[in-house]
Amino acid sequence: MNPELLIKLHKDIEDCFAPDPPRKAKSMQASQIGHPCDLFHVRNFLDYTLAKEWTLQSRRNFYMGKKIEKLWIAEIRKSDNIRIFNEQQEITWDKYNISGHIDGWLQYKKEEPILFDIKSMHPYIWQKFNENDIDAYKQFDRLPYYKKAISQGQIYMAMSNTEHFLFIIVNKSNLAEKFIYMPLDYQHTEMLIQRSIRVMDYVAKEIRPDPIEFDEIWCEKLCPYNHICLPNRRYEGAEFVDNEEIVDAAQRYFELKELAKEYTEINAYLKAQLGKYEKGGFIDGGNYEFAITETHYKAQPEKKVLAKPERIEKRVVLIDHRKGEGGGKNADGKADN
Ligand code: SF4
Repeated sequence: MNPELLIKLHKDIEDCFAPDPPRKAKSMQASQIGHPCDLFHVRNFLDYTLAKEWTLQSRRNFYMGKKIEKLWIAEIRKSDNIRIFNEQQEITWDKYNISGHIDGWLQYKKEEPILFDIKSMHPYIWQKFNENDIDAYKQFDRLPYYKKAISQGQIYMAMSNTEHFLFIIVNKSNLAEKFIYMPLDYQHTEMLIQRSIRVMDYVAKEIRPDPIEFDEIWCEKLCPYNHICLPNRRYEGAEFVDNEEIVDAAQRYFELKELAKEYTEINAYLKAQLGKYEKGGFIDGGNYEFAITETHYKAQPEKKVLAKPERIEKRVVLIDHRKGEGGGKNADGKADN
């Protein structure tokens, strides 16, 4: 195949994901209001022409996210019990010059409708959320690209006069969902309102407030003005390498570094938990290991009274190789079979 043809193909496809021209902010956007830098917000009104373009990768990620959200909604609309309404409705709070687009309201049968926002995410990030944990929504604050989600949900609640909010997080690889509840936090919304009042005041007076202290996430990852702002100082005297292969490898390095961190945490957790079992001192010893077993139970429709649905039961099994048996005890204390 002619290599030039590949280049042309890529070029045309890239044009399909062309960036939007920079636009002057007319109000504080609910999706951005969680950014803690006043200067960032002021620049969205006064210096928007200087904003860096989103990278092609970011534009594709954003596009994919929107598609996934629509796909998920289209599927659950098949349910007779779930109603979605006011989808993508624009809401405004003129008093504080805040606006946004809610993803919609969800109602199950005759239950009270609840305001929701869908966040699609990589399976690795998705599995970090435990929907049975009442504080699971706080996990957003630990994830660089979702750091503004809590504030976004809080201000939506304040603007929609409700005290309940649902994040629906959708796994990008298989459309699986988790429901993450968040209650209204008056202090948080008050802080956001004060931010908006302050910023609008700066904008009216055309004052650019001081930059925040350099922050790796807010300045480097979540601000399109970092090239004209304080963070430039971080790279003074640095040498730049634009070799694509090295850039890719460096990117993978940072991804693996994150995974390695999680591995260390899980390893320590399992060591502590499984260490409480009779055969649990396996991790450092080398003679013990563990695995996960699955037992498949078939449905038993013929037993009308005690009919059980089909299910899979998983257990961790601790294996003692010193006895050469490969047998041991399950981590729930039962003998392995
Ligand atoms: S680079 Fe940092 S300090 Fe400058 S506007 Fe952005 S967030 Fe604020």
